[in-house]
Amino acid sequence: MGYALAAAARAAGHKVELISGPVCLPPPRGVKLIPVITADEMFAAVHSSFPHADVLVMCAAVADYQAARMSRRKIKKKTEEFSLVLKPTRDILLSLPRRRDCFVVGFAAETNDLARHARAKLARKNCEMVIANDVSHAEIGMESDENAVTIFQREGRTRVLKRAPKKEIARELVKIILREVQKSFDKKMLRMNDSDT
Ligand code: C5P
Repeated sequence: MGYALAAAARAAGHKVELISGPVCLPPPRGVKLIPVITADEMFAAVHSSFPHADVLVMCAAVADYQAARMSRRKIKKKTEEFSLVLKPTRDILLSLPRRRDCFVVGFAAETNDLARHARAKLARKNCEMVIANDVSHAEIGMESDENAVTIFQREGRTRVLKRAPKKEIARELVKIILREVQKSFDKKMLRMNDSDT
């Protein structure tokens, strides 16, 4: 979905940086690819791009946990059970400073109670919009060329984009995001004009 969004934003004439973990997709033409492997690398890359971004779309399904310790040597096989200790990764969205001049979009991949979880994320994470998709269906979402999403916004409005190729969903999402960016820009200008008079 991230690659489709990057391609759609570029096709709409925008400068795009795509921070991506390892995938089997070629980067869309004209897009600056910033490759990362770990959640920590993605954390650093997002923090470095965020200050000059007008819009941030956090589409990545970042790992929630990482190994607490790394072994320098190969861990040898034994016959008994073996447990790994995992520690939570840092939440990138949550760590970003709030910027009035950047429109932040989060994603929510859910298997149940989609609306409740998406609204909670909208409230808790620093974003203006959360795009939720139901990943309990194998035909849409991850590892599929199709998706279906529900868009949640701060003012309580929701909008459904029915099952369609990711390319089409991405084109529609870029249009919707840009309309919202324009609206918040207009509001800001109005506030500035009001304070001038
Ligand atoms: O809480 P959950 O992981 O479901 O939230 C999803 C949103 O948070 C997505 O936009 C995802 O990119 C972002 N996220 C993040 N850092 C993490 C985990 C998720 O920014 N460590």
